[in-house]
Amino acid sequence: MEASLTARDRVGIQDFVLLDPYTSETAFLENLKKRFHENLIYTYIGTLLVSVNPYKDFDIYSKKQMDIYMGVNFFELPPHIYALADNVFRTMLSEFNNHFILISGESGAGKTEASKKILQFYAVSCPSTKLLNNVRDRLLLSNPVLEAFGNAKTLKNDNSSRFGKYMDIQFDHQGGAVGGHVLSYLLEKSRVVHQNHGERNFHIFYQLVEGGEEDLLRWLGLERNCQHYRYLVQGDCAKVSSINDKSDWRTVRKALSVIEFSENDIEQLFGIIASVLHLGNIKFEANERGYASLNNNNQEMNWVSKLLGIPTQVLQQGLTHRKIEAKAEEVFSPFSVDHAVYARDALAKAIYGRTFNWLVNKINESLVNKDSSRKTVIGLLDIYGFEVFNVNSFEQFCINYCNEKLQQLFIQLTLKSEQEEYEMEGIEWESVPFFNNKIICDLVEEKHRGIISLLDEECLRPGEATDLTFLEKMEEKIAGHPHFVTHKLADQKTRKTLDRGDFRLLHYAGEVTYCVVGFLDKNNDLLYRNGKEVMRQSKNAIIKLCFPSTEPDSKRRPETVVTQFKSSLVGLTEILMSKEPWYVRCIKPNEAKQPGRFDDVLVRHQVKYLGLMEHLRVRRAGFAYRRKYEIFLQRYKALCPDTWPNWKGTAAEGVHCLVKHMGYTPDEYKMGRTKIFIRHPKTLFATEDAFQV
Ligand code: ATP
Ligand code: MG
Repeated sequence: MEASLTARDRVGIQDFVLLDPYTSETAFLENLKKRFHENLIYTYIGTLLVSVNPYKDFDIYSKKQMDIYMGVNFFELPPHIYALADNVFRTMLSEFNNHFILISGESGAGKTEASKKILQFYAVSCPSTKLLNNVRDRLLLSNPVLEAFGNAKTLKNDNSSRFGKYMDIQFDHQGGAVGGHVLSYLLEKSRVVHQNHGERNFHIFYQLVEGGEEDLLRWLGLERNCQHYRYLVQGDCAKVSSINDKSDWRTVRKALSVIEFSENDIEQLFGIIASVLHLGNIKFEANERGYASLNNNNQEMNWVSKLLGIPTQVLQQGLTHRKIEAKAEEVFSPFSVDHAVYARDALAKAIYGRTFNWLVNKINESLVNKDSSRKTVIGLLDIYGFEVFNVNSFEQFCINYCNEKLQQLFIQLTLKSEQEEYEMEGIEWESVPFFNNKIICDLVEEKHRGIISLLDEECLRPGEATDLTFLEKMEEKIAGHPHFVTHKLADQKTRKTLDRGDFRLLHYAGEVTYCVVGFLDKNNDLLYRNGKEVMRQSKNAIIKLCFPSTEPDSKRRPETVVTQFKSSLVGLTEILMSKEPWYVRCIKPNEAKQPGRFDDVLVRHQVKYLGLMEHLRVRRAGFAYRRKYEIFLQRYKALCPDTWPNWKGTAAEGVHCLVKHMGYTPDEYKMGRTKIFIRHPKTLFATEDAFQV
């Protein structure tokens, strides 16, 4: 007794549901901290997994560990991401339905690492055949490829996801991983041409320059020196101690071949990556009339022309002129130098962004399962986390909006629907208050009045509207909103001053001040029409696919970036709502990315906004498991002579009879209108064990 008390004192409790007093935030934090210092980074709240980023590697992800967790009841072993993965897998197999795991937390909290661990668990532990091994390898290796092209070093995280990723892993009825599908969301393209101080461009550029074979670099016309490329040095940190670009290059290169990229694909792909670097180095000079001009023998231009297979003349004309259609004639109007730089950057962003989409499609082709038999899926959602920098722009606005939506989904699926279900089922219940961030989602996305609508309206007034008129419009239309602050209102609401060109949103996860500069431009994401036309002449097979000649011309306005993003998030929500949810909530222990440091204030803040205390309260007061009477009876009827083999009465009566026979005590379960509710998992496990015997 003595010994076990000491052990428990030292390592804390592994499920917050057992915390005493469970309403105390301080006790919650103490437990988390105690465990963190014992290298126990995982703790449960019922079936939800809380994970604290250790910022160091330890040996808990080996094959041996996987074997230990495979097929063992969830609460029998110390909390682990493998236990969650296994539990999801087993539930999927026994109920033959679809699931998803929502991994959330702010930038650097460990979401991507968590999603990789889960994927590895499935890839290594699931039943497998030689044929399936192929799929397994591809599933695993899609990760380093997507990370190389879609992740970058930011101030928050050396491997920050700059796109949202939802991945379905498909299983056959025996539990073999037979295929997959990736959906990607809004890549932060602006990073291709601009990085803030202390940040980098996407990893792939540095990997290529640092790790690319001599022959390859020669063929691409690249120097082995990142400092040489304008697009790589703006953040002034091309080298990062935690990143080994050279060995990452080898991993990516190998992964590409496993995912069935042909040598030709690979050549074309790196031709594009190199041409983006060359594009960035193209300089314009003002000619005698003040327009942008290019030196005739511009080396960089020649390389772009060679690598993309576009005649130099065409490229040159495309970068320095805009095509205007006047009557039946085509007139080329020259750009100013600023305009030309803008058009060049727009082209680089478009090329990279579209190539990224091509890459995702290509990966999907290699993961596709052509067999039409019914499959079930486990979806993994790993999206860019909530982020706050000193200067926040359109990109942070989109990322943080996305996080609001996911928080809303979490609330709907856990706190709200949980409580509604008890009510609906007629189970006595004292409701738990929680902050519902719907008010912030509405502020951003409401039709006609939300920030997105106002931004889009301004984007429809080219020439007249500016970033500042957008700000004014917001001030006029949503000034009274409790989560919106501008310069004029700052003192009353948050007592902190704001610059004239800023607005502040009081997000569920904290305040963020956004600088309005660039919002219109980034939302419009205009690529001059002749930019597209130039690309259509490319002989590079990937570029040909990315800029198809069938693409409608820009006479009709394309949807703005944020509106497209909003629709894609609606689509994502629909995908998720049709599946059973599981959660991993990731916590960042300190801002310094250091092991062993647990910053109480920082963690307390995350525990608060992630709604963990509310979740615990609902869990604690509620019931861990529930099953429709029909399903419960069907599964366990063999345990009771009265219900086996056929029960003649209603399913509810059958279940009643069954649980009586099993000796459930009255406080262990409740009978609702359509379901049985079981308070503790151990009750269900005991039943399950009896069933297995
Ligand atoms: P973002 O929103 O910026 O993409 P993220 O939540 O995906 O952030 P990760 O990239 O998963 O964050 O984690 C950041 C870093 O923290 C990792 O590169 C790794 O160094 C460390 N880390 C995260 N989780 C773990 C873990 N379980 N074990 C060891 N180190 C970890
Ligand atoms: Mg990530």
